[in-house]
Formats: sequence, C-alpha cells, structure tokens
Amino acid sequence: MDDPRPFPDERTPAGAFGRSSVLRRALRAIALAAVLTVAGMSSAARADGSPPRITLSAPAVETGGTLAAEIDCRPVNGASREVQLAFAGQRIALFPHPVKGGGTCVGLVAVALNAPAGTGTLDLGWTDSGRSRSRRVDFRIVAGAYGEERLSVDPRHVRPSPADLERIRREQEKLKQVYAAGSPERLWSRGFALPVPGEVNGAFGTRRVFNGELRSQHSGVDFRAAAGDPVQASSSGVVRLAEELFYSGNAVIIDHGAGVFTSYSHLSRIDVAVGRRVEKGEVIGLIGATGRATGPHLHWGVKVNAVTVNPLSFQQLMTALTGG
Ligand SMILES: [Zn+2]
Repeated sequence: MDDPRPFPDERTPAGAFGRSSVLRRALRAIALAAVLTVAGMSSAARADGSPPRITLSAPAVETGGTLAAEIDCRPVNGASREVQLAFAGQRIALFPHPVKGGGTCVGLVAVALNAPAGTGTLDLGWTDSGRSRSRRVDFRIVAGAYGEERLSVDPRHVRPSPADLERIRREQEKLKQVYAAGSPERLWSRGFALPVPGEVNGAFGTRRVFNGELRSQHSGVDFRAAAGDPVQASSSGVVRLAEELFYSGNAVIIDHGAGVFTSYSHLSRIDVAVGRRVEKGEVIGLIGATGRATGPHLHWGVKVNAVTVNPLSFQQLMTALTGG
C-alpha cells in the first residue's frame, strides 16, 4: 500500500519513447546490442528462404505481462542472420538463452498496462544473403482484470507543495536517465527470486484512490513484511540508483542487463551504493515505510525494455526460462 507511481514513465505508451532523445539514444544502443553476430561474417550465405524459427512462451498475455520469444539465431551457411525483434515501435534486446546457449536468442516482450487489448504484432527481422527480410508474428493481448482500492496517506503525498513538485520533476528526470542507461549485456544467469518471503498484500495493476482524490494504477507488487526485515536482490546485476525519493522513499534500482531492471522501495535502510555489483539473494537494504507508504512493506517493481510489468508473472516467466 503505497506509492503507485515511483517511476515517471511507467504508463507511457511504448510508441511515445521516440519523443525522448535520451531514450532514443538508449534504444539505439539496445538495437546495436540486439544485432547478434553469432558466427563469422566472412562467407556469404546462400539464400535459405525461410525465416528464423520463433517460439513464444504463450499465445496470449495480459496487459502488464511479459512474453519470452525464443528465436533460432544460428548462422546459416556460416553467416549470421542478424536477427532483430521489435514490438510497438520499440527494439527488443536479444540475449543468448541462459540454458540453451547462444544458438537460441531470447527477447522479452513487455506489454504495457495501458496497451489496447487485441492483436499484438512482433516484427522479426533478419538478413538473408545480405538482404534485409522481415515477418510479422501475432499474439493476443488480453485486458488484465485489475481491482480498485482506496487508501489514506499523508496529504503531502497527494497534493505536493511547489517545492515538492520541483523535487518530483528532478527525480523523474533522473529515473528516466537510469532506465535509459542499462547494460546491453545480460548480467543475470540464475533466474529471478522474490525479494522477500512475505505474503503479497498489494497486487500489481490495482487502480488506487488516494485520500479520495488521486487515482493511479499500482506499478509494482507489495509484500507484507516487518520493519527491519532484510530485502534481497532478485537476481544479479549492478546497482544504478540508491537514494531517497519523494514517493518511493529509500529506493534501490538494480540493472540486470538486456533491458531488465528491478526496484525496491520504502526501505528503512539502504545497504548498497551505486555501481556496486550484487549477486542474486544479496541483502541490499531493510524493510521500512519511507516515502508514500501506509506502513512497513516492500514495493517491488520490474521494468522490461522501459515498460513497467507485473513482477510476479515476470518472475514466474524467468523461472520457467531458466529451469528454476
Ligand atoms: Zn506498492
């Protein structure tokens, strides 16, 4: 029960990213990383004709959900096919499959909470004898059934003062830069774990009414926990932010590479510094109630390719991908 919107761009449609030069640069960097050169490029491939095989983890996904696309990115006749994947105008980072190895590439398809239900279309690109080819791959987007709840918080966090608004603006700009500057390489290997053992008491996507007036949609999942309980890094990565924010309170953001970030909010204490390499399960801070919170709990958020997604379904997807 807390901050529904610690990250400013959480409900920005993917297509709107083109308006930000910082994000544009970051997406270009991801795009470069996504062009996988699997083998030597010396010999020209003969025309093979067929597109790279692509398999989706499910035929349908809820808004706010994530799909894994597995693509055969082995070279043909010794030449890389330079496989690329895009969704909603956004290039998707591709990385070698953590279990199957580099011949199988994985792209995580994040569907925004405000994405329209209906048909989603992936653009799969590759080269064939030096020619760029592409095909469309459709999947189904289903509207998530998200509830509503009413919460009472400190009025300061519903009607911020002009000074607080200026602080919020600065923090939102900083967060945009953090999320735009992630490692193009995958930094995790053993999947993602829940950051605390506690029961979930605030579901992702719930529409929230604060003090009867402010409406927003819950951008993460809340775990019930006691003040002072340890919070663990969900997977290995690099700490990109570790400081107090207006809404999130003491917050840590970990970059897991290839477009994946996790965030941990309302901590009573932060135990890691920016730039620190953390391992899966490492304690990064303690449970608290800082920022817009009604009591001690952990707000856990996940971003995939700059889109806010359901942390629990993401964690399950990654567990399936890595075999536990
Ligand atoms: Zn929360």
